[in-house]
Amino acid sequence: MKEEIVHEMFSENQVEERIVQMAEQINKEYEGKSLHMICILKGSVFFFTELAKRLTVPVTIDFMAASSYEDSTVSTGKLQMRKDLDEPIEGRHCLIVEDIVDTGRTLSMVKKMLLARNPASLKICSLLDKPSRREVEIETEYIGFEVPDQFVVGYGLDYAQKYRNLPYIGTLEFSK
Ligand code: 5GP
Repeated sequence: MKEEIVHEMFSENQVEERIVQMAEQINKEYEGKSLHMICILKGSVFFFTELAKRLTVPVTIDFMAASSYEDSTVSTGKLQMRKDLDEPIEGRHCLIVEDIVDTGRTLSMVKKMLLARNPASLKICSLLDKPSRREVEIETEYIGFEVPDQFVVGYGLDYAQKYRNLPYIGTLEFSK
């Protein structure tokens, strides 16, 4: 049987320090505006709440479940939309909050779909970025950490729905 081993890459403290910095930047850039935060379930939920708690501009939140992965480590290339937003976004300043940008396919499909709903603005905030894997060009305004081409888990990110509750981010190794 294959054993799964998680190697810590970013500690809980490192992640939290970075989230504080990101929140400060967002607070400055949205000063005088209200921010509508869009959480892409499920992977970004831990990051989303930690970030939201540290924002001082007026915030509203909504949730969307969309991914291009199915219980595997490889993108399927098709957007699976399991839950749409509850509220309209027309005229609102929206921030998509994602766990990781890998090929860029999920976010570019989500962004295109949301732009068609005429938000006042639409930016992307992702905890992690794996730029070496990019297949689709996508502008990301706020990034927590860049990671190498390795499968990462923890802080909301899963492998077959496991490891989301790890308080740190680590790489997943399969040993024999
Ligand atoms: P993309 O469409 O950019 O290829 O993939 C984005 C989604 O794939 C992320 O939201 C995440 O759910 C999943 N994903 C991509 N890379 C990783 C990874 O290294 N670990 C985990 N757990 N999920 C990943």
